[in-house]
Order: sequence, then structure tokens, then C-alpha cells
Amino acid sequence: MRVFIFLGAPGAGKGTAAAKIAAATGAWHVSTGAMLRDLVRENSPAGIVAKSHIDKGELVPDHILAGMIGELFEAAEKDATFILDGFPRTIAQAEELDGLAAAHGAEIVKTINIEVPEDILLKRLGGRRVCPVCGASFHVESLPPKQPGICDICGNDLVLRDDDKPETVKNRLLVYAEKTAPLTGWYERIGKLARADGSGNADEAARNVAAAMG
Ligand code: AMP
Repeated sequence: MRVFIFLGAPGAGKGTAAAKIAAATGAWHVSTGAMLRDLVRENSPAGIVAKSHIDKGELVPDHILAGMIGELFEAAEKDATFILDGFPRTIAQAEELDGLAAAHGAEIVKTINIEVPEDILLKRLGGRRVCPVCGASFHVESLPPKQPGICDICGNDLVLRDDDKPETVKNRLLVYAEKTAPLTGWYERIGKLARADGSGNADEAARNVAAAMG
């Protein structure tokens, strides 16, 4: 198994780039945010815990994430390539990932830090609209659906994610700066960090990220 990690602030476009690159290469796009939102929809015990953190813009406890990634590696084909979008988000999760990778013979190939200035992040998060059914993501200005407010893929009504509301966004950016941004130094020190400019449109950003993956 080969693992690529996409790092970047909320709104950096990790999910959009991962979806495009996965569609083009056959890699698996693993969005821990989407997996957690599925747990919330199922109202499972882990989902109830996850919701209480997600709604405040805080991180969900590490053991829930470790369980999800462990199950994923357990079920994966040996020749699978994964793009991890949103995991790890803390140094503790990076250590957990190292252990899981070693246990399952997975190689962490590279971490791509998708870099976007804060004013653009804020604009993106405010205009983001997602499909609550299939998880597709759009933007009212830069990536509008064909029909306003309707998902191109499954035809359901698009919504503003609860955690994209302004108060929650502020906290998510603080949590990112404090807990997730230090991961760039962590991966740089072991020679596994590449940087990609994510400030352009979705196609440009995906091209930059794909080039950084090598
Ligand atoms: P995302 O879709 O990646 O923006 O994630 C949405 C929310 O899910 C985050 O703000 C966190 O509350 C939670 N989340 C996603 N991935 C993780 C993770 N690796 N660790 C903890 N919480 C996470």
C-alpha cells in the first residue's frame, strides 16, 4: 500500500484536489471528515461523540480516527494507493499512522502541503455548499453547480455545512494553526514534505498538487 497525505488549512482544497486526482489515477480518496459525517448521519455512538466536536470546530478524539484508519488498512488491497484528506491532523495522529502503516506494510510516500492565503480560505469556506447525500462539494462563485443549489451528481439540495458557519470557521482555523500546522515541520524533518500552491482554481490547484506528488 502507498499512502499520500494532503495537508492544509480548512478551505485549502484538500478534498477537491483529492477527488480530482483519485478520479484520474484510481487512487482511493479517504476523507476523514466525510467518514465522520457518515457516522453522524448514522447516529452511531461514535457519531454522537463526533458531532459534539465537529459542531464546535474542534477535533474529534484521536481513538475514533485511529479506529477508522485501522479498519481501512485492514480491508485494503495490498496494491492500493490512498490519498488521506484530513488525516493526520495532530502529531499524535501522525505517530498512530506510522504505527498502522508499519503494521500493514504501507509506505507513507509523501505529504503535500496545500498552501492558500487566509483571505482566500475565508472566502472559500463562506461560499462552499455541499451535498448532504453524496458529499460532493461546490462553491457559489468558483465551482457553481449546473443548477443553483442542486447537486450535479445526485440531484439533492446543497447545504452550507454547519461547521462552515463564521463562528465555527474561526475556531477551525485556530485549531488548525495550533494542532495541525506543526505537522508540516514533522514531515519536512523526515524528508517527506512537498508544497503545492492551492490558491488558484480547482483545476490549477489539482495540477499543482499532482505535480508535487511526483
Ligand atoms: P473536514 O471535512 O476535513 O474539514 O473535517 C470536518 C471536521 O471533522 C473537522 O473540523 C473535525 O472536527 C473533524 N475531523 C476530520 N478529520 C479529523 C481528524 N483527522 N482528527 C480529528 N477530527 C477530524
